[in-house]
Amino acid sequence: MSPALNDALTAVRACGLRLSAARRLVLQGLAVADGPMSAEQVAAGVGGRVPPSDLASVYRNLDTLERAGIVQHVHLGHSPSLWALADDEALEYLACERCGDYRSVPAHELDAVRVYIRRTFGYTVSFGHFPLVGLCGPCADGGSARRDRPR
Ligand SMILES: [Zn+2]
Ligand SMILES: [Zn+2]
Repeated sequence: MSPALNDALTAVRACGLRLSAARRLVLQGLAVADGPMSAEQVAAGVGGRVPPSDLASVYRNLDTLERAGIVQHVHLGHSPSLWALADDEALEYLACERCGDYRSVPAHELDAVRVYIRRTFGYTVSFGHFPLVGLCGPCADGGSARRDRPR
């Protein structure tokens, strides 16, 4: 069992939530996934890595687990909400609006940005629910075809 799954199962018990088979399956699915997954992908079995389960129950369990702080969701581009296990330290995201690539990073790696925005504009920002959106390295370097340069 992965440490992440072990932590999540421990957290479920610590919150006094029942560890039903369906709930366990949702956590297992998120633990084996390579990145945040939609509820549909979890219900479909994460590409055959866990048994498929009922979509309505996946939604219900994600909702319960999110309120307990055990999972979190992010909106990457125009995709449906994507779910991941919430780590000790929350994950935040950077997303490319051209190719759809994204990176997840531990929140502390974006603290310098947070401090700057807070100081300059008074806003306390976070990038876990909505990512920082822009261009990834390759798109920024190679995507000159669509870049409008003044002539
Ligand atoms: Zn890109
Ligand atoms: Zn949301």
